[in-house]
Amino acid sequence: MIFVAGHKNPDTDAIVSAICYSDFLNNTGAEASPIKLGEPNNEAKFVIDYWKASMPETKTSLPENTDIALVDHNEASQSLDNIQDLNITSIVDHHKFNLQTDTPLEIFARPLGSTATILAGLYNMANFEINKQTAGLMISAIISDTLYFRSPTTTEEDKIMCSKLNEIAQITDLEAYSLEMFNAKSDLGDISAEELVKMDYKEFSFNGKKVGIGVMETTNPNYAINRIDEIQESIEQIKSKDNLDHLVFSVIDILNEKNTTIVSNPEDKKVISEAFSAQEIESNTLDLENRVSRKKQIVPTLEQYFA
Ligand code: MG
Ligand code: MG
Ligand code: MG
Repeated sequence: MIFVAGHKNPDTDAIVSAICYSDFLNNTGAEASPIKLGEPNNEAKFVIDYWKASMPETKTSLPENTDIALVDHNEASQSLDNIQDLNITSIVDHHKFNLQTDTPLEIFARPLGSTATILAGLYNMANFEINKQTAGLMISAIISDTLYFRSPTTTEEDKIMCSKLNEIAQITDLEAYSLEMFNAKSDLGDISAEELVKMDYKEFSFNGKKVGIGVMETTNPNYAINRIDEIQESIEQIKSKDNLDHLVFSVIDILNEKNTTIVSNPEDKKVISEAFSAQEIESNTLDLENRVSRKKQIVPTLEQYFA
């Protein structure tokens, strides 16, 4: 049995790619099963319900030497707790690589807007049929990761693949569907400030510095701005609990393509203002302008800053 896992703090692409790559592997005659590493965000839950798919089981570690395929991530810090003890058989990903393995493995990596786009290409190359549910799930992952083609991570191939997949999925109004997804993601109810910071959160190591970056992609940025005091408090708590050098939280206004970043202390503020030449809007809120992609517009700049 090969388990297929997306990253911690699962987003739509992580959940969908685990389901679809597992289906792909089963098509090749392997025996595969998707898992998730934690509670998915509300958008991913909406997508799974909408396409009547089943939500993968949660497992944060697996028995030693279990076969595992990684999708939508490759870094140990974003993976299963005991990833060092597992046998990684393959990786499908669209992120920068930071991994070392003991054994040879299969890697499908392309700088496309979503892991699902890479997967759809694999289905096509292998001549495997994509059914309506799979097509709908893949479209959702493409829309999610590219913010419906607003993000600079979007490629021509994502757009072409999306419309090809929609010949199967038959979504009548893609833009309206994307809004339904984004509104589901933005509907957070009484989520705690810590959950908010960690909802779409990744840890990076930049030249030995441990840096946490949370992003909140939303159609309702005021939800976070109004809770800035609580958010700053939990930033400090997470920093000390997880032993981080820096932690920043970016509120991404999807529809207006704007990034407002919240910091909670002078050290983090210094890093962000210097690295991005960012202006302070209000105390401890920095204007990161149109930087909506953590992967393409935030991480590389910080990597360079700390180099
Ligand atoms: Mg992801
Ligand atoms: Mg992705
Ligand atoms: Mg994302």
